[in-house]
Formats: sequence, structure tokens, C-alpha cells
Amino acid sequence: MNEATRVPATAGEWQQRAEALAFEGRALIDGKMVQASSGATFDCRSPIDGRVLCQVAACDAADVDLAVAAARRAFSDRRWASRAPAERKRILQRFAALLRDNLHELALLETLDMGKPIAASIAGDVNSAARCFDWYAESIDKVYDEIAPTPERDLALITREPLGVVGAIVPWNFPMVTAAWKCAPALAMGNSVVLKPAEQSPLTAIRIGQLALEAGIPEGVLNVVPGFGHQAGKALASHMDVDGVYFTGSTATGRLLMEYAAKSNLKKIGLELGGKSPNIILSSYADLETAAITAAECMFANQGEVCIAPSRLIVERPIHNKVVEIIAEFAKSRQPANPLDPETRLGALVDNRHADRVMGYIDSAVGEGARVVTGGHRALAETGGAYVAPTVFDNVTNDMRIAREEIFGPVLSVIAVDSAEEAVQVANDSPYGLAAAVWSDHLSEAHKVAKALHAGIVYVNCYDACDITTPFGGVKQSGTGRDKSLHALAEYTEVKTTWIRL
Ligand code: NAD
Repeated sequence: MNEATRVPATAGEWQQRAEALAFEGRALIDGKMVQASSGATFDCRSPIDGRVLCQVAACDAADVDLAVAAARRAFSDRRWASRAPAERKRILQRFAALLRDNLHELALLETLDMGKPIAASIAGDVNSAARCFDWYAESIDKVYDEIAPTPERDLALITREPLGVVGAIVPWNFPMVTAAWKCAPALAMGNSVVLKPAEQSPLTAIRIGQLALEAGIPEGVLNVVPGFGHQAGKALASHMDVDGVYFTGSTATGRLLMEYAAKSNLKKIGLELGGKSPNIILSSYADLETAAITAAECMFANQGEVCIAPSRLIVERPIHNKVVEIIAEFAKSRQPANPLDPETRLGALVDNRHADRVMGYIDSAVGEGARVVTGGHRALAETGGAYVAPTVFDNVTNDMRIAREEIFGPVLSVIAVDSAEEAVQVANDSPYGLAAAVWSDHLSEAHKVAKALHAGIVYVNCYDACDITTPFGGVKQSGTGRDKSLHALAEYTEVKTTWIRL
């Protein structure tokens, strides 16, 4: 094994790799790496220590125009869409293989850019993104169109047609994975894509754009425009020549995107938005240790910056004290540490601004009478990074701000209830409906509660079990549309009827 392929074993070795990295901050438009046409850039700062990693192109409406025009040309001359399905499949598989070949570099970029532990970037983010491209590549030559039942003198074809130019706007918590969830099905179906990464985490999007070219995806088919939401994001979602915009991010921004679509060309919109997911543990569930540890693991994974984080733990009163005790012990053992250390399990939040926002929620909870069981403070201040200790609040009521609003940090709210019926009522009393869970050893109780939970994803006796094979998305203000699985293919296509009189 040579030095480049060896997995670094210590934070020091990862730091050395980081110092040797050549960061690319330019946009990718029409197959070329370019600066923003205004020349504007912004600091790409690491939340690990506040250090500026590089300058990134601050693309605006003029650059989005160029990227959309390139994507349109690529779609109109069919340089990608007209390739035989088996050929598009091979190219996307090569792309997935290149992501894996560049595992360490991509993982390091992700960790430096948004602060998650390097072990998670390696085991989770890069591999999930590669698997997503592989899976949709495989789907290309396995999905058939339909022929409708018609009188014998007619033939009616029902075909799926690519939309044309697709915009993908993604957040910073899983930059590569959310980009893959949009780009893979969109490219599989023959669309051209303009990808707008979050301003907090643009580096892996730019790098995977380069790898897409290397894999043989033709120029102009995948464009990457880094920049701010109110500039590049707004321009993309408002563009008259974009056929669909697929978004993962906050509910507030999702609302704006619907408005932009309504005020421009009524483009198709897919929204994967926020959550305040309830996790119900009922007294009938015997293995409290597993339920409580899973609740804590999933709450503090990715620093709590997870849309489906089980941030409202709803527990029946007889088991409440025991559950809180186990979770508090877990939280104390999972303190933030250097994300470049392979042993670290809780890293930095995305930036200091966000860490201050999380602290604002913690202060408001104390003000409203919730009890801090553990945490409630910033950590590792001497690093200059954005660290918050895992925090558990007890005595939370469902009307408190911390139970209603998405915090997107390592903050768990525990709500005690008297029955399964009350648990369901509290769980569903939320503007969100992304994920929900119930833990119960009684088959019919588990079924009844699972059915009553109003959410896009419901877990029974587990949490965050997932695979590319199952749809992902929410109801209510958690969004519209679905990522992942064959269902996502419908998002990136229009159904066309061709009626032939024979
Ligand atoms: P955000 O809405 O602030 O930003 C997301 C993206 O939208 C970024 O690329 C940003 O630049 C862009 N954007 C911001 N303002 C815009 C505007 N006016 N027009 C167009 N684009 C704009 O969200 P965030 O803080 O980056 O991400 C966290 C949010 O993402 C949380 O609410 C989280 O729940 C959600 N999320 C949801 C899922 C899901 O699948 N449901 C997955 C991950 C994250």
C-alpha cells in the first residue's frame, strides 16, 4: 500500500493530508472550471478551527444564466439523453467507482468543510454517495415504459421523458449525500443538472463535478455553481429555463422556492425540508437499554445536524427516569473532539453562527422551565471551532420552543406522557412530519401507533434504518416529493402519452 492509499491512523496524519490538499473553489460551467463572472469570492472557513481553507466563487444570476444555458445546450443536442441506457449506466458506474477511488480526499474535504468526524465521512458520506450513483446507474436499463390497454386499432404509449434542465439546491449537513440523492436519479433519467451547494460546504460538490467529467459525463451535463442562497440559489429557482428544482434544506427556504416557481415558469418542485421527529418509547418495550442508547446515538449523530434527528423523545412515565438516566450517561461519554481524529464520534457544528443559534435555543429552553440534565454549553472554545456539548433537556412540554422548532444541533428534548394515545397525540402535534418512531413489544400496539403517526418515514423498534431502496421524504411542512428508491425517478421525468391510430 503506498502513502496515498494508506488510511491515516491519527489526527496528525489527517492534518498533514489536509495541509497537502489543493482546494478547488471555482465553479464548473460547461465542462470548464471558472471564476464567478463578477470575480467575487467568499471565504470557505473550516468549523474545526475557524481557519480559512480557500476562496470560493460567489456565483450570482449571471453565472446561473451561463450554467443553465450550458445545461440546456447539452440537453437539446441530446449528448447525454440519447446515449444507449447501457452506456449511460456504464458511465455513472465509472463515476461511482471514481468517488470510491477518491474516498480519502472526498472524506477529508467534507470533514474540513462542515466539521463531521472523519470516520463518519469515510464510512457514511462518500460510500453512501457512491452507492446512490451505482444504484441509479443500475436502474437505467431496468425500468420499462408502458403500453395502455386500448382498442385493437390503436396503440397508446406511456413513456417517461426527462424534464430537461434540473436545478439541485442542497444543504451543508450531508453535502455529498444530498447532492447524490438529486443528481443520480436526474442524470439516470437523461436530464442535465445545475447543482448549487450550500455556501457553508461547497468543496465536495465542486470536486465531484470534476470527477463526473473524468468519468465521461459530457461537458455541460453536470454544472456546479457555488454561491449564496439569495443570489445563486434564488436565480436558479427563479430561472425561466429550468424545468424542475429539487431542494433539501430548511422549511423557510422551501417556502421561498415555491414562491419563485410560482412567479417564474411554474417549474416542478421537490422539497425535502426540516423535521422535529418524535421517538416514542412505550413501557411495553422491555429492552430499555437498546431503545435509550439508539435514541441518543441517533440524536447526537452528525452533531444533531440531521433532518430526521429524533429530537422529541416521548416516554411513558413508568420508564421515564430509567431512560433519561441511560441517555445522560451516553451523552456524557460522547463529548465533542477534533473531527480529524479517527476516534472522534461528535465533531464541530457547521460554523460559529450556527453554534450561537443552537445556544440561543438552549437558553430559551432554560427560560421556559425545561431542566438541563447534561450539557447546555459550548465546548473546546480554545480551538476557535464551533463545538456544542451534547445536551439533554427533561421536563419539556410540547408547547415549548425547543419542542416545536428545528434546532439542528445536539439537543434532545424529553417529554413524559401517560399513555400510548397521549404519545401519539403529542407526536402528531407538530408542523413537521418527516420521521417518527415507536418502541413496543406488543405487536398490535406497535402497528396501531405506527399507523397513527403522521410522518413520511416510521420506524418500529429501531431508528434511522435506511437504504437507497426505500423512499425518503416528509408530509406536512417537512416537504413534498421523495428522494431515493425507484419512486424518485418519477420526480425527474414527465409522463408522456403518445396515441397512435394504426
Ligand atoms: P437552508 O434552507 O438555509 O439552505 C439550503 C440550501 O438552500 C443552501 O444551498 C442555500 O444556499 C440555499 N438557499 C438559501 N436561501 C435560498 C433562497 N432564498 N433561494 C434559493 N436557495 C436558497 O438550509 P440549511 O440551514 O443549509 O440546511 C439545514 C436544513 O436542511 C434543516 O432544516 C434540515 O432539516 C434540512 N434538511 C432536510 C433533509 C431532508 O431530506 N428532509 C435532509 C437534510 C437537511
